[in-house]
Amino acid sequence: MGNFDIQKVRADFPILKREVNGKPLIYFDNGATTHKPKQVIDGIVDYYAQMNSNIHRGVHYLSQISTDAFEVTRRKVQAFIHAKHEHEIIITKGTTESINIIASCYGRPFIGAGDEIIISAMEHHSNIVPWQMLCDEKGCVLRVIPMDEKGELDIAAYQALFSERTKIVSFTYVSNALGTINPVKEMIDIAHKHDVPVLIDAAQAIQHIAIDVQELDVDFFAFSGHKMYGPTGVGVLYGKEALLNKMPPYQGGGDMIRDVTFEKTTYNDLPFKFEAGTPNIEAGICLTQAIDYIQDIGLDAIKAYEDDLLDYATQELAKIDGIRFIGTAAHKSSVISFVVDGIHPYDIGVILDKLGIAVRTGHHCAQPVMSQFSIPGTVRVSLAMYNTKEEVDILIAGLERAVAMLK
Ligand code: PLP
Repeated sequence: MGNFDIQKVRADFPILKREVNGKPLIYFDNGATTHKPKQVIDGIVDYYAQMNSNIHRGVHYLSQISTDAFEVTRRKVQAFIHAKHEHEIIITKGTTESINIIASCYGRPFIGAGDEIIISAMEHHSNIVPWQMLCDEKGCVLRVIPMDEKGELDIAAYQALFSERTKIVSFTYVSNALGTINPVKEMIDIAHKHDVPVLIDAAQAIQHIAIDVQELDVDFFAFSGHKMYGPTGVGVLYGKEALLNKMPPYQGGGDMIRDVTFEKTTYNDLPFKFEAGTPNIEAGICLTQAIDYIQDIGLDAIKAYEDDLLDYATQELAKIDGIRFIGTAAHKSSVISFVVDGIHPYDIGVILDKLGIAVRTGHHCAQPVMSQFSIPGTVRVSLAMYNTKEEVDILIAGLERAVAMLK
């Protein structure tokens, strides 16, 4: 267990000291992106002031220290998610790119006409659309795990979806629209009984829940740096070595090759085969500071703090007149989505913004979830480790005011 000192945590995030619309910023849009601690911000400045150089290419000093720092991140990620090999960690632009790599490089060669892909009813668009594009191209079929009115997946229905034609399963660990934590281990085991590989979208899990990809026995695992207190423009695709090795590269270009002639190109080994071109170097390097930051505090301590805050916020929000929670699963993480009778979510968001409170309103890139609940969107409060009960109290007061004005 780490040491959780909320005042110390808050002091690490410079942006929390600013005002918005004349009020202290209260930031509850952490599902979209988290703020960055000064350790990450300093790391980015330091990169440009002291290291700036392209990686994996130069023999000169700066290129070597940049390359070393980038590769430190790879090993850091490996240890953070307990991957077996460091070359199983592909540095990408983010979750979206990671999922697209699998849809493209696993999907195109190994999924054909009439084959089936299982996703769930609560996916973010980035875990729907790449598969639909594959289906359009190859004539394969999307099968969707249904979800109940609480926002929990129907595991019996999931089991029944498997057929001889099922080629991959891809679903989210935590729903960004509902906060549901899915029973990932159980679902992976079910897929493996059918010899089907599983991709987990961990965009909303990695910053809240300790991960061991070997214990989960997951085949592919995707997440973004910017949702875990790290820089934007960097993310991770983990894949089991054997699967990554049998996949073709994603893009052609520098770094991903071994030899190029006009007649033939041979490809580099893992992980570089999937890392064509110059990456977002400073973001890649400074993901290390984000992981260090999380690990210094400890994910167990972070989770305990956030779970307590989630319970408090849920209990206080329940007192708002006319509120209806969207997503009431037994196991939830850091996300509260709701609507208020007769009021459009957008109008609530605008009034809260005037009070310096940032929430998300809309469909949260999960339109099928909104369709299932027959609503245009929700107000979403998504928590991070730097949020407090005092901020929740200010949110509640703001919401009461907004509801009184809009009713
Ligand atoms: N999956 C989930 C569950 C998300 O919440 C998000 C972002 O909100 C994504 C995927 C896409 O992440 P990114 O935009 O960082 O690629």
